Amino acid sequence: MCVPGCQEVVARRLSRRGLFRGVAGMSAAGVASLAGFSALPAGGAFAAPVSFSKVVDLTHVLDPSFPTYFGKPQLEIRQLFSFDKDGFNLNEWVVNEHTGTHLDTPFHFSKDGPSADALPIETLVVPLAVIYVREKAAADPDYRITAADIATWEAANGSLPPGAAVALNSGWEAHLGTDKFRNADASGTMHFPGFHVDVAPVLAGKGVAGVVVDTLSLDYGASKDFSFHYKWLGSGRWGVEAAANLSVLPAKGATLVVGGPKIKGASGGPSRVLALV
Ligand SMILES: [Zn+2]
Repeated sequence: MCVPGCQEVVARRLSRRGLFRGVAGMSAAGVASLAGFSALPAGGAFAAPVSFSKVVDLTHVLDPSFPTYFGKPQLEIRQLFSFDKDGFNLNEWVVNEHTGTHLDTPFHFSKDGPSADALPIETLVVPLAVIYVREKAAADPDYRITAADIATWEAANGSLPPGAAVALNSGWEAHLGTDKFRNADASGTMHFPGFHVDVAPVLAGKGVAGVVVDTLSLDYGASKDFSFHYKWLGSGRWGVEAAANLSVLPAKGATLVVGGPKIKGASGGPSRVLALV
């Protein structure tokens, strides 16, 4: 039994424990100072009512051919009933949790961080800051967002709102449907942009709740140690991978809605992700 507020307290406690576990499992090279990590704001990220005039779908259509991190199909759709034969349509799915536009939970990269069913919903409806690095990513597919990119955004838009989500607008969505989306070289190493591990404590110190990428991974494609995943998800925060339509959003002012799965123990899952603008 959990009284009101208890779940948030539990989640915060879990996130702190997860943070240390996640870091303990990292390579020495991936460990940066954790000074500056702070708790997520209690009770949600909005000081005033949210207003919007349109809804932007940040979700790609998911079918079995959608590219995957591991390079193999991760969705199978089996038709169990059809309207013509049975009078109604009903499919079943066999799907990897990390397929299409999807949520990464803290549990994905920690021993006992919150899974999808346990994430506080106040952290899934939040202000969205969009960091534009398309030219940098076009010039360097291994580009990683740094603290300097966050500083540039804040110089133009003001401080990141506590509890916000930060999105990487790398322009990589334009490569969907071509081999360049995974951009694997002859050795199988992928080359697409992501978040630099050193930016994790910077964002966490500002109270950021989640990050969003338009690529297949929060870490850049060439990462071999998932260092950003360990540090970020291990600190009790979440991510969204393979988001669509980030390029039509303003740098500031949109509200992100992450409609993740509420499946017990899920490390993530295909999600309906929306922006209210
Ligand atoms: Zn994932």
